[in-house]
Amino acid sequence: MHEYPITQQIIKIASQHCEKAGGSRVTKITLVIGDYSGYVGESVQMYFDIISQDTICDGAQVEIRRVEPKLKCPDCGELFKKQPMSFDCPKCGGQGGPTDIGKEFYIDSIEIE
Ligand SMILES: [Zn+2]
Repeated sequence: MHEYPITQQIIKIASQHCEKAGGSRVTKITLVIGDYSGYVGESVQMYFDIISQDTICDGAQVEIRRVEPKLKCPDCGELFKKQPMSFDCPKCGGQGGPTDIGKEFYIDSIEIE
């Protein structure tokens, strides 16, 4: 699964952050993951528990904020959630196009102690 290397990366970043800040362990990591990012939050969480063992991230809580993908209407500028089988703008009926909303994947915050 491709969440494995990205989870290793997250643990590396969090550990470095903790060491630099003089903390003894990482207590919480908040991730922002869009539904269209290609990564599954549950898998990241699962790998995290395995990979973080015996690191300063061991036992840290992983909070995942999901972002729903949105379309943007080129006519009126409305951002809206895509409905099944439809790209129609709920405001004016125009055809919405894809945006980057929902493709996010980043660490929002790292808490240490
Ligand atoms: Zn519209």
